[in-house]
Amino acid sequence: MTTLSSKLFAVAKQHIPGGVNSPVRAFKNVDGEPFFVRRAKGSRITDIDGKTYIDYIGSWGPNILGHAPVEISNTIHQVAKDGISFGIPNPFEVDMAKTICEWVPSVEKVRMTSSGTEATMSAIRLARGFTKRDYIVKFDGCYHGHSDSLLVAAGSGALTNGEPDSAGVPKAFAEKTIVLPYNDPETLTKLFEEKGESIAAIIVESYPANAGLVFPKAGYLELLSSITKKYGALLIFDEVMTGFRLGKAGVQGLENLTPDLSCFGKVIGGGLPVGAFGGRADVMDMLAPLGPVYQAGTLSGNPLAMAAGLAQLRQLTKGVNGSTSGPNGFDRLETLGQHFETGLRALMEKKGIPHRINRVGSMFCLFFTDREIVNVDDVMKQDMELFRKFFWACLDKGVYIAPSPYETGFLSLAHSEADLDETLTVFEDALSEI
Ligand code: PMP
Repeated sequence: MTTLSSKLFAVAKQHIPGGVNSPVRAFKNVDGEPFFVRRAKGSRITDIDGKTYIDYIGSWGPNILGHAPVEISNTIHQVAKDGISFGIPNPFEVDMAKTICEWVPSVEKVRMTSSGTEATMSAIRLARGFTKRDYIVKFDGCYHGHSDSLLVAAGSGALTNGEPDSAGVPKAFAEKTIVLPYNDPETLTKLFEEKGESIAAIIVESYPANAGLVFPKAGYLELLSSITKKYGALLIFDEVMTGFRLGKAGVQGLENLTPDLSCFGKVIGGGLPVGAFGGRADVMDMLAPLGPVYQAGTLSGNPLAMAAGLAQLRQLTKGVNGSTSGPNGFDRLETLGQHFETGLRALMEKKGIPHRINRVGSMFCLFFTDREIVNVDDVMKQDMELFRKFFWACLDKGVYIAPSPYETGFLSLAHSEADLDETLTVFEDALSEI
């Protein structure tokens, strides 16, 4: 029987390249077709054929409270009554900037954008303008959005399509981006010894999460910090995924580090289009209208996005179950993460399938390999065929994990222990079947 999703996808493909507005959504890496969403609430998504799934993607990160939380949808309705976009300063922008600066100590000033891509692109331009140097350093498998300088050896959808370098990026641009293997201190040190004086910045996903979820070796992030300082380059933490998800100050808070610039997105928009970049005031003040580095946006600081994001952040700091003391949203996410990880480890041991599990807070990744996960090369050596079968078996049984082995899974505050246990049962059935 042809499903409604399948019929709609056929129409979509006639009018949208590949039928999707962002490549990972096409299910290409799992050799299939996507479903179309009718509605989503809490931990669950219902497709247009009426089937419901427990969701572990949460719109690729923003939906940390779950789908359509009442606090955010009410805020959006309320704020929209007074206007939807002004292109004139509004109080929500100031409140958002103040909140980010208060929560993330390295951020003295911050500017809002409409996507994570714009945030990283702008941070790179600013770093080049500030240092008056051209080269930037990124790491193999790290994804920082799709601006030209950063779409070199990228992760996420770029990896999924097996084309880590995009057509259309002039060679002359790509040459200014130096790509290094992640977690390899020797190569990094050698590079800086050779050309450290011409490097504007290192940009790094604070915990790389677009080629699986990879953790830095002990001392690696500290090395990035000290080496940039030594050579007068800037350190840019891309916390688009980890920021406001792994605690108030993201990975830099967990690791007690102070990058020069940081990029944000996803959670701070409450599900509306948002990004932000910020950091040292002397660097940020190089931006127009104060300084010579141009950066702008028609919808930047949009009142709906700001208010939705602020509502989400407020909710995260509230006590669980209405209490004003005790565990807050971040604590609760860690509890849920631990519960899920413990169950998943026990299940994979029981099944005797080679695996690795990386998790921090509400972010997790299951790898079908027993290799130690040090960088993207290890991630790519997992059993892709097993992943593909696992994905489809889970989807069939009502659990939606990312349709690519390179993506990180997300829990939300709407997930209950019962949801997680139900998911583990589905995983077990799926693994038995395939
Ligand atoms: N940086 C990181 C770490 C990301 O994960 C993403 C998106 N997944 C981006 C940047 C780009 O953000 P956006 O898709 O909002 O442009």
